[in-house]
Amino acid sequence: AGNNIKLDIRLLPFHDKHLMIVQDFTRLHHMEKVRQDFVANVSHELRTPLSVVVGYIETLDDDDSPEMEPYRAIFWQMKQQSDRMTRLVEDLLTLSNLENEQHINHNNEVAVPKMLEGIADDAIILSGNKNQNITLEADESLWLKGNTRELHGVFSNLVSNAVNYTPELGEIAIRWYESDDHLIMEVEDNGIGIEPQHINRLTERFYRADKGRSRDAGGTGLGLAIVKHALQRHDAQLSISSEFGKGSVFRCLFPTERGIDAPSIEDTEDH
Ligand code: ADP
Repeated sequence: AGNNIKLDIRLLPFHDKHLMIVQDFTRLHHMEKVRQDFVANVSHELRTPLSVVVGYIETLDDDDSPEMEPYRAIFWQMKQQSDRMTRLVEDLLTLSNLENEQHINHNNEVAVPKMLEGIADDAIILSGNKNQNITLEADESLWLKGNTRELHGVFSNLVSNAVNYTPELGEIAIRWYESDDHLIMEVEDNGIGIEPQHINRLTERFYRADKGRSRDAGGTGLGLAIVKHALQRHDAQLSISSEFGKGSVFRCLFPTERGIDAPSIEDTEDH
């Protein structure tokens, strides 16, 4: 006791007797903790030097004196790559926070319809001149018990993936509704789709179905790993269905018990 020993004990029927299996996970658990701490420390330590470098690149790039002209293309490259590195470090930190932070409130009363409106508006900006048709259908009376920041991360990751992996003029539908056995947030697109052999691996860190396309879209390869971890912390699951070349549906399935009735208009006016 007190030594953080992790044992897994199982009792199985074996002929006319019982077999007790005791597995010691202490060392494995310790190594996993070392890995998590290492990633957390590395990403934290990289943050400061990186922001200094980004700052200097911006100063150089802002200098519009003529002698800087020949270096314009180089500054642009430096800026692209340092922005990419910043996104990577931020995503690594988010992921390790999701693994390590224990005392987070997962019972905020989250106004999902309002949150999705904001995310849909951001998606229109991200979509830019791709002119995709982004629609939102949300059950206004349905809110969710969860962590506001983590849920925003989940939903915006799924929506920005839909924008990134759907060509010009594509259709993206965001929905929030209650089914017989779940509360469902889903994002459907008619984009590039995913080949079946990749689907089960997409939530692994740095796994990409198409490396080149993901990089071009500015992806870090960590988005769906973040989504999966954050959903686990809400007793929820990610379900992915896709047809290659036709499009995909990403669904977050929350247990019905997490649902709450949206406060009525009179209630909200009182506050
Ligand atoms: P990335 O930063 O590469 O987008 P993610 O973890 O968010 O990383 O996604 C992992 C991979 O899943 C992507 O590289 C892409 O191959 C695939 N993917 C995710 N969302 C979609 C989508 N809506 N349509 C097609 N492929 C997708």
